[in-house]
Amino acid sequence: MQCPYCQSESTSKRGFSPRRHQEPLQRYICKSCQRLFNERTGTPLAYIHKSADQVERVLKMRSEGMGVRAAARVEGIAHATVSLWEQRLVQMESEWSPPAPEGSEVTVEGDELYTRVGENRPASKASAGP
Ligand SMILES: [Zn+2]
Repeated sequence: MQCPYCQSESTSKRGFSPRRHQEPLQRYICKSCQRLFNERTGTPLAYIHKSADQVERVLKMRSEGMGVRAAARVEGIAHATVSLWEQRLVQMESEWSPPAPEGSEVTVEGDELYTRVGENRPASKASAGP
């Protein structure tokens, strides 16, 4: 487990972070900077006070074309929360993925989330021959 504060690899398990109504999270201590952290520290999920399972379910519904409001209604959460998770996810992807290829863009627009890649590829493939 890498330390999210100083990126040191010398960390060790140190008890659990208790969480209300949920399984406790494994907690770690960094031997370099002496800070405590858990599996979620430093990830976008650290700031999401719902279970990761629920976030995953909601984002899956969204990826399958369900509207923000519909997905929120199914889970019994505010639709603003769903939008927030999507924004976090976009941030997460831009931080964790390798740089997007030239010409790609991620557009978040109203109720929809699009990822478009390679829009400005050369249009003509049949320019062979003299
Ligand atoms: Zn550290």
